[in-house]
Amino acid sequence: MLKTSQKTVVVTGGSGFLGSWLCERLLGDGCRVICIDSLISGRLENNKTYSGHPNFSFKEHDVINPITINEPVDEIYNLACPASPVRYQADPIHTFKTSVIGVMNMLELAESHGARLLQASTSEVYGDPAFNPQTETYFGNVNVYGPRACYDEGKRGAETLIHDYHQERNVDTRIARIFNTYGPRMRQDDGRVVSNFIIGALQGRDITIYGRGTQTRSFCFHEDLIGGLMLLMASSPETHHPVNLGNPEEYSVLDLAERVLRMTGSKSRLVYCDLPVDDPQIRRPDITSAKQKLGWTPKIGIEEGLERTIAHFQRQLEGQSMSELI
Ligand code: NAD
Ligand code: UDP
Repeated sequence: MLKTSQKTVVVTGGSGFLGSWLCERLLGDGCRVICIDSLISGRLENNKTYSGHPNFSFKEHDVINPITINEPVDEIYNLACPASPVRYQADPIHTFKTSVIGVMNMLELAESHGARLLQASTSEVYGDPAFNPQTETYFGNVNVYGPRACYDEGKRGAETLIHDYHQERNVDTRIARIFNTYGPRMRQDDGRVVSNFIIGALQGRDITIYGRGTQTRSFCFHEDLIGGLMLLMASSPETHHPVNLGNPEEYSVLDLAERVLRMTGSKSRLVYCDLPVDDPQIRRPDITSAKQKLGWTPKIGIEEGLERTIAHFQRQLEGQSMSELI
């Protein structure tokens, strides 16, 4: 198929938290964007600000089923997969199929169009890591049967398949291992820690810390992450090996809770419950590879990122209570 100078980019999971920001940035760069989403955890509302853009189209589709696109495609960002543990554990078989069969369908699409595919992989491929920070050469420590396995092993299987399509069939591929990323457009009921804590604090409800809160995560603001994904997509073919993308500042879950309480001025109580099975105890990316190969480094620290996310949820909650009054 004849390709024009304007890029056509497929974004699976484009109505989710990260995918919707990615679609917006790509439209801003003048790309045609085809958003594919089953809306299992995403919402059309996330695409609202640009849904009428002439270069944007939406297809409701589950990536576990093959898809053909009858126009040239240059790039495919494969983000389709629920990322919150609560959501991906709700239907483990479907989550596993989404990762493995979904990526196979997108690799087939990439091959048929001669398109480049970028996979949204995850720091979960490292499981509960024995080393901190995690480098891309670490093989990981993942429980094959645990409650997180459908996601962790699904994403690991996806990476294997991508590697094999690259080796055997010369498909042009990139793999981003994304560490915890947060920001506006996360669902209020997403279930991940940042939105849970902020919504709880703003509503004055108890904030629940799983375990003692000593487990750590590294939190990246969405804007930084999307910039990293786009640089990785644009990078040279030598960058087909996985690249960590995340903010290397590491915080305990308790520290995050206390920050959110302070920043919202909330009187919410901290309450504790059991740590979920296989919950990773440490998590911090080594981003040397991203710095060297992409010239990428995150710019937005935790205070600014939380401030912007709190402001977003505050506006959303105020809007909801106004509409209840009307
Ligand atoms: P999200 O749940 O907000 O978005 C995922 C999107 O994929 C949703 O719109 C959902 O409806 C769609 N989807 C899920 N299964 C699908 C299927 N079978 N077919 C079609 N669409 C489907 O999550 P997110 O935080 O935006 O994450 C996006 C991607 O990035 C995911 O692949 C996730 O694994 C990866 N990732 C995210 C993080 C993070 O911290 N946000 C960290 C590591 C990896
Ligand atoms: N967590 C918590 N309270 C919550 C949600 C999560 O203490 O309401 C903890 C969870 O046990 C984990 C960390 O916060 O240790 C990050 O959880 P999240 O679900 O955001 O992502 P994960 O990195 O575990 O996939």
